[in-house]
Amino acid sequence: MHRLLDEPHIAAFAAELGRERIKHCIAQELAERRARDASAEFDEIARAVVKRLEDERFETLLPVVNATGVLLHTNLGRAPLSQAALDAVRMAGMGYCNLEYDLRAGTRGSRYARAAALLQDLTGAQDAIVVNNCAAAVLLVLDTFAKGREVVVARSELVEIGGGFRLPEVLARSGATLVEVGATNKVYLSDYERALSPQTALLMRSHQSNFRITGFTQPVEPSDLTALGKRAGVPVVEDLGSGALLDLAQFGLPHERTVQEAVADGMDLVAFSADKLLGGPQGGIIVGTRAHIARLRSNPLIRALRTDKLTLAALSETLRIYASPHRLRELPLVAMLAATQEELRQRARAYAHAQPRAEIVESTAYLGGGTLAQTALPSIAVSLAPRDGAEKAAQQLRHREPPIVARVAENRLLLDLRGILPEQDAATAAALALL
Ligand SMILES: *Cc1c(COP(=O)(O)O)cnc(C)c1O
Repeated sequence: MHRLLDEPHIAAFAAELGRERIKHCIAQELAERRARDASAEFDEIARAVVKRLEDERFETLLPVVNATGVLLHTNLGRAPLSQAALDAVRMAGMGYCNLEYDLRAGTRGSRYARAAALLQDLTGAQDAIVVNNCAAAVLLVLDTFAKGREVVVARSELVEIGGGFRLPEVLARSGATLVEVGATNKVYLSDYERALSPQTALLMRSHQSNFRITGFTQPVEPSDLTALGKRAGVPVVEDLGSGALLDLAQFGLPHERTVQEAVADGMDLVAFSADKLLGGPQGGIIVGTRAHIARLRSNPLIRALRTDKLTLAALSETLRIYASPHRLRELPLVAMLAATQEELRQRARAYAHAQPRAEIVESTAYLGGGTLAQTALPSIAVSLAPRDGAEKAAQQLRHREPPIVARVAENRLLLDLRGILPEQDAATAAALALL
């Protein structure tokens, strides 16, 4: 052990990983060798330990190149932040800030006031609050309004999204009783009407997220649902999931219901994610009427779901970009969606230049993040049939600095350009050249 610890190639990792981590890796290597009864030369063991230490690098949070073509990839951290948001995070984290301090009055202030004011301006809602993610937002709404009472949801909207978030289970957890209405494919306003009882706490509408029912279907108009809620005196809430503030039709995509539309349809509360289509940090936003948001704010759970200053700094700056439409391209996700095929092709030429065996091909990207899951976005990819096979090459790319996560199809390696940040082009093309 001591000889290994002092071996120069191994000792070189001490500053990065710490001595205890190195000891742990050596002990693991020795134990595995003993178990296999594998005796070996010192040098061979030292090399194996160095390999282990190199792999430890992957245990830290690293920037990666997303060449998968899935723009909002939950495993790769969803939306990249804008420079303005990153600067705000740095500012907020570097020292102290007026997070909950009113500088004019010299007294305690509200942590959420700045983001709430921006959200009111952007969505037309009377008030807003922010929690840790959209799952927490839904939980908070149900806990506040529906504990021990009934929530009416259409069968076609009882979704499970990624990460084990199942609407019926979250409902059960919050102590609410689910009242399912309609058939899997069809639901009418009269179904909701018949389900109303003195026990009804909420009428709820949920985005179907990453699945679609097509063919013989019948949804209820959101404005009809909110009108029913008003007549019956029952709040209507919508879980929008992705939370678009922009009409995606301007990027040639199908229209995706926006937060503004949900507010205009008269929803009392609308919940959505901050790190999907919005292009901000992880967060859950709830906008709605003053009275309903006030109820949420007075729920003690809000303290447990409280967002930190880094998130609020990034979110406020992200929202400020929406407030000035000429700045929208500052959002990396918007820049990715707006890039033309010709722009992508132009960038791909540098890759093909670095690796002459590579071809430039038409490709298909996806939005991801439970939004327009089936909608294909035209894209451009660099395609290569690596000598040692595509899987092997994909693995080699994952071991690069920065690691590159690519797609493999029919024994070809595909690097989809739409999700690769232009500033990562040079390093990615250099890695491709080595295959
Ligand atoms: C993504 C999604 C959520 C969960 O959002 P998180 O911010 O990941 O917690 C909830 N509901 C719907 C419909 C979604 O698409």
